[in-house]
Order: sequence, then C-alpha cells, then structure tokens
Amino acid sequence: MRLLILLILLYLAYRSLKSWMFKNISSENTIDGKKMGEIDDIMIKDPYCEIYFPRRNGIHCNIDGKDLYFCSKECRDKFIESKKKK
Ligand SMILES: [Zn+2]
Repeated sequence: MRLLILLILLYLAYRSLKSWMFKNISSENTIDGKKMGEIDDIMIKDPYCEIYFPRRNGIHCNIDGKDLYFCSKECRDKFIESKKKK
C-alpha cells in the first residue's frame, strides 16, 4: 500500500515537472517569435510571382490599405494592372 502511494506521488511530481518544463519551452518560443518580428530582414512572399525575398530588398506598395512587398517594380506594376482588370 505504501508503494502505491509513493508511485502516485512520483507520478504527480513527474506530471507537474513536465507541465512546468512545457511552460518554460512555450514562453521561450514567444520570446523567439518577438525577436523574429523585430528583424526587418525577414523573408516575404511576392503576391504576384510568389517568390520569397528579404522584405528590406522589396518594393513596398500600399494597395487597398494593405502593405504589400514585391520583388521588383515590374511585379508591382503587373499586380496593380491585374487588380484593375478584375
Ligand atoms: Zn515578383
């Protein structure tokens, strides 16, 4: 009977330790996520040709209140043209 109680206590201790570790891991992840957002050298997708490129190298354009980034001026112009046609 004592052994059973000991096992339950060990199990509970193991469970709390596990959840504590999980909390630590998830909080670390959110910190990493914030760091990622602060870097302006993030990869972004060109909505026209669907190529990935660093955002700081992209051509910024505000279309319909949305901030869009294109790999080149050509893509930006073609995207605007294709929007007008619709
Ligand atoms: Zn492009």
